Parts: sequence; structure tokens; C-alpha cells
Amino acid sequence: MDLTVLGTAAAEAWPAPFCVCEACREAARRGGKDLRRRANYQLGTDIHIDWGPDAYHCMLAFGIDYSPLRHLLVTHPHQDHWTPVDLLWRRRGFAKLPEESQLTVYGNALVGERLRQTVRAPLSELSMDYRHIREFERLDLGSAVATPLPASHAPEEGAFIFLIEVGGSRVLIGHDTGWFPEATWEYLAGAGMSVALLDCTYGTADRREGHMGGQGVIDTMRALQEIGAATDNSRIIATHFSHNCLSLHDELLRFFSPHGIECAFDGMRISL
Ligand SMILES: [Zn+2]
Ligand SMILES: [Zn+2]
Ligand SMILES: [Zn+2]
Repeated sequence: MDLTVLGTAAAEAWPAPFCVCEACREAARRGGKDLRRRANYQLGTDIHIDWGPDAYHCMLAFGIDYSPLRHLLVTHPHQDHWTPVDLLWRRRGFAKLPEESQLTVYGNALVGERLRQTVRAPLSELSMDYRHIREFERLDLGSAVATPLPASHAPEEGAFIFLIEVGGSRVLIGHDTGWFPEATWEYLAGAGMSVALLDCTYGTADRREGHMGGQGVIDTMRALQEIGAATDNSRIIATHFSHNCLSLHDELLRFFSPHGIECAFDGMRISL
């Protein structure tokens, strides 16, 4: 099954809409892997993770079909990850849904509240339902099992990262977070993940509160390997980059490559 990384920017995207910084100007000039949308992912045909302001644009840009979606996991309600307005267009008269289409949104209480504020009608009218999730609760999604783990990020928003099992593989969707909380390290011990996507909002800077930067990603990789959460063969992939870090894709690659760490780009496909 493929995991497609549809967006790899922090909240304001890259280039950011109103920014004149050198990193935004240069990204716009270069295009390609330096154009970064807000974070969301497609897993197989029916699972999506996060739904920010670029989810629709990603459908067009990367040829994704959202009509079979059945499960939508939401890490936290920050607006770069949870902008549910396009889900309104599931309603009769706006879309002809496939027969027996049903989309379940999984998130914390604030995610549910913002969904209801946006929809302002029974979710059943959109062939949707919402499931309030709690940390360490295993969610059976049919083709995968997802477990929300506590993140070190915006405690008032109750952010999660997700450990997802697909067949014999485990993948970590590890934004938005700083250095993991102790309970998350304990849960991940021995997980033997094949892929871990890690927060790198601060680029090559050494920061790890709320979000991480380059040294935090390297140290997280080493700590994951030490506790058997990752192996020497695991793919460690940095993502969720802010233009404020000023490092374009090439420079991020130069920083991370000596450590065997990859840099995500929009449209990156990961086989699990
Ligand atoms: Zn974010
Ligand atoms: Zn900028
Ligand atoms: Zn956030």
C-alpha cells in the first residue's frame, strides 16, 4: 500500500502568501520540490490523514481520488491540519457520492467541535460521522490500524501523532510535535517501524519545543533506534518545513543526507 505525502509545509505554506522573504521568493522561482503545501497524507484508497486548506488542491495536483474515502484521521485542530469546509460538499445536491459512502472523522473533542461548527447540520446528511479518539486507543480502519500517541505540541489543542500499522509495516506520522513525551517513547519501544516522518519546522536549527529542527530530528532517530522503535533500515523522513527556516530543499538534503535521513516533498510516495 502507498502512503502519499501530499503536503510538507508548516502552517503558512511555502511560498507563504504574503511573504517577501528570500526563501519564499527563491522557492517560487525554483518551483518543484521547493513548493510546499499544508500537511496531509493519503494512505491506500480510503484513509486520509489531516485535512488542511490544501487538501482539495492536492487532489488536483497529485491525481488523488477522494470519493472512496472512509477514514479521516486528524492530528489536531490547528488550521493547517483541520479546515473542514470542503467536507460540506459531500451533501446531497453538491456531490453524487458512491453508494453506501460513509466517512468517519477521528479526532479529539476540539476537532469534533470545529467540524460541527462548520457543518451546522446533522453529519448524517453528509454521510459522515465523528469518532472522539483518545491516546493509545487502537483504531481498526480495515486495511490499517492507527494508534494516536501524545505529541509535545499546543497542549490546549490536544495534539496527537499517529502510529499506523499496515500489514507487517509500521509508519509514524510524526508532525506536529517537539521532543516526544515520555509516554510516547514508552509506547514506541520495540515497534520496529519501517518509516518515521518527523517534524522539522525549524529546518537546520536546533529547536525541539512544540516543533523540531534538524538536530532534534537526528537525535530522535538515534533515540528511536536505541529503543528498537526504528532499525538501521528504517526510513527516517523530515517534513513540515517552515519558510522561516530559510533552507530550500537542496540545503535540507545536504544537512540530512550524511545521517541517512530523507527530506519529504509534496507528492512523495512511500511504499509500505
Ligand atoms: Zn502544522
Ligand atoms: Zn517567506
Ligand atoms: Zn500545529
